[in-house]
Amino acid sequence: MIKIKSAEEIELMRESALIVSKTLGMLAAEIKPGITSLHLDKLAETFIRDHGATPGFLGLYNFPNSLCMSPNSQVVHGIPNNTPLKDGDIISIDCGALKNDFYGDHAYTFEVGEVKSEIKKLLKVTKDSLYIGINEFKIGNRVGDVGFAIQKYTEDHGYGVVRELVGHGLGRKMHEDPEMPNYGKRGRGKKFVNGMVVAIEPMTNMGTRRIKQLSDGWTILTADGQPSAHFEHDVALVDGKPELLSTFQYIYNALGIKSDEEDKFRKQKLEI
Ligand code: MG
Ligand code: MG
Repeated sequence: MIKIKSAEEIELMRESALIVSKTLGMLAAEIKPGITSLHLDKLAETFIRDHGATPGFLGLYNFPNSLCMSPNSQVVHGIPNNTPLKDGDIISIDCGALKNDFYGDHAYTFEVGEVKSEIKKLLKVTKDSLYIGINEFKIGNRVGDVGFAIQKYTEDHGYGVVRELVGHGLGRKMHEDPEMPNYGKRGRGKKFVNGMVVAIEPMTNMGTRRIKQLSDGWTILTADGQPSAHFEHDVALVDGKPELLSTFQYIYNALGIKSDEEDKFRKQKLEI
């Protein structure tokens, strides 16, 4: 059952979404060759707790850490470890936080040092597909419209859309209805209504869409060993239109990137 949020609840969810956004922004300044994902995980846990929240993934379905850290050919759900990141790596970081009984859930694929242009393109296409999907999250549309738009754009670039893992409704639970696949058919699935809050999160493989899982029971990686990217925003449906609750602006500020990609999905300018 889809849980519709009141305006007050959406404001609380914005708070949770901004905590995960700030956490990724803090990490953006730390990511460089030589650093370990376990170190970043500890920084994030402290940061989240210092902001009056609880790490959203720690203990969720028994996940052992605060962040999912998935380098290179890992798609999602990677477990932080002591392997230093190398120049040319990418790492997808998924961050959850719980505050005021509501979850934030946010992911970004970071470049470590100097990354090959073909991998930069994978990251750009995946992030662009996220906004293409968000644009379809509006009154008159259905779940399949978001998935169709993401899938078409991604496959037109020759990349693989992961099927086994999907976006989701977000609220008092990390995973609520409806599921939000990154593939689908126009006009199919649940109808969107005002007050829905969802996490839209394309997971895009440079090669085959097929995946496998490590024996740790968590880590998902590409079946062909090629890189994969993951970007995720929390989005509310307000007055018939998508409104971003999370933001990549903290990351962009840390990295010195200028971007207006989020502006059309926000009623007022974000003060950062
Ligand atoms: Mg996530
Ligand atoms: Mg999610």
